[in-house]
Amino acid sequence: MDKESKVTIYPSELHTFAYCPRLYFFNIYTPVEKPLTQRIRLLLGHIYHYLKGLLAKRRGYRVEETISTELGSVVLRGRPDAYKESDSSVEIVERKSGRGPKEGVWLSDMLQVTAYGIMLKGARDHVVLKVEYRTATRQSELDSEKIAYLYKALDDIVLVKKYGIVPYANRSPKRCSKCPYREVCEELDKQLYDEDLYEPGAFVAEKGVDKSFRDLA
Ligand code: SF4
Repeated sequence: MDKESKVTIYPSELHTFAYCPRLYFFNIYTPVEKPLTQRIRLLLGHIYHYLKGLLAKRRGYRVEETISTELGSVVLRGRPDAYKESDSSVEIVERKSGRGPKEGVWLSDMLQVTAYGIMLKGARDHVVLKVEYRTATRQSELDSEKIAYLYKALDDIVLVKKYGIVPYANRSPKRCSKCPYREVCEELDKQLYDEDLYEPGAFVAEKGVDKSFRDLA
């Protein structure tokens, strides 16, 4: 990639990066075909989103329209599940077919919906962010803390996507047991071990959940 060129980043990439930055790296540089169970889950997710989208359109939301914005050397581009705008505010809905955490939202979901918030904010005072899980809907407002995390994630993704720097491995028994890259990931760690090495994405370990999102009454 030309060092002067802009990097296009999709909110779905932010989602994968916050789940495990190392997994994101493998997905870019050595992609493998997803296992059948994962493909079936993805298909069911598409059907779920399609049906929810039909309902949202009837309620006046704009559904899965492509939007984009430039942030310095990054082009942020994506399709929010649903959004509704007025002159002074915009409400964004991100749907997840799984369960959310007991309170707040997963960091991956916060970054994804915040990216849409930045793209749609314009001159509006209020940007309402909603994450709709299967069991609960959580809501918050776009604020400086979320924006700071988003910029941090975008900077680190640029290091991975543009410069090929190997990022942080967000290990957990559950996460790694179903990862197709487990063996190569462990091997890579043996070769890379260096206490002073900067690993893009290490911040995901500190903030697994964003508790500024509250249950929608
Ligand atoms: S094995 Fe674990 S840490 Fe390594 S890429 Fe997969 S999920 Fe991430």
